[in-house]
Amino acid sequence: MVGEFEQGVGESVHRAGDVPHGPGALSRRLRELAAERENAALFFDVDGVLAPICPLPGDAAVPEPVREALSRLVRSFRLVAVVSGRSAHDVALMLAVAGVTIAGDHGATIVQDGVEISSVPPELLGRLEAAARRLAFDGRLQEAGVRVEVKAASIALHSRGAADLAEAMEVAAAAAEAAAAAFDLVHHRGRAVVDLRSPDADKGSAVRRLVLDTGVRAALYVGDDRTDIDAMQALRLLEKEGTAPLRSLLVGVASDEMPSGLAEAADFLISQSEVLSLLRALERSSAEAP
Ligand SMILES: [Mg+2]
Repeated sequence: MVGEFEQGVGESVHRAGDVPHGPGALSRRLRELAAERENAALFFDVDGVLAPICPLPGDAAVPEPVREALSRLVRSFRLVAVVSGRSAHDVALMLAVAGVTIAGDHGATIVQDGVEISSVPPELLGRLEAAARRLAFDGRLQEAGVRVEVKAASIALHSRGAADLAEAMEVAAAAAEAAAAAFDLVHHRGRAVVDLRSPDADKGSAVRRLVLDTGVRAALYVGDDRTDIDAMQALRLLEKEGTAPLRSLLVGVASDEMPSGLAEAADFLISQSEVLSLLRALERSSAEAP
């Protein structure tokens, strides 16, 4: 049966030269995943994947049809999780879908059924606070139009909205690099943002933990940014090392801000507007599978 997904994706899928499969192959892989749903995990990034990118992160929202699709998938898949640079609390409010496991702060905090199963060590909070104080008084950031957001377990230097985005990103990266060195943190460039966070937790460590905790045998990851590559590589490594008998399906969301390495890490590339079709293809396949 040719579903909405094949029809929708056939027209608009972005395919990098080194992504070998077409949309028909993606639909087939989604059907295989749905057939294994009781032992399968679905992982999604939030911004740029479930929620379209907005000029101000505070304005981003998960569209109602996406929320509805996720709430139905929660009932059939072993694990549905979102993995975000936002705090778990922020994601919970933004998503408002019961039963979704939330890995916030780039994986440093994991909340399952309202219970924090992994949290940020207090000594890290002290280092982040010291870094935040330094950045708050950095006049170069203010001049370049970089907005400093202090989150639960990371600091984001946002350049979106700055008069000169490239210049703002350079200033943000230099300030983040200096603060990372001073306070034993790591810094990463994302889409119009530079993050400062713990060297001990990333999206890769979060998905690894959730896969091993739940014992799932198949996993889907959908992400658009550099930090999502960590998660994709962690799943690929689990698959290779055989710690868990895992089959992973890695989907990159292409954009004009796509980081280098995403196309290489992913099995398939789709656009953000196709994410809902992907969710619906999973739902439909689950309903049809034995
Ligand atoms: Mg993202």
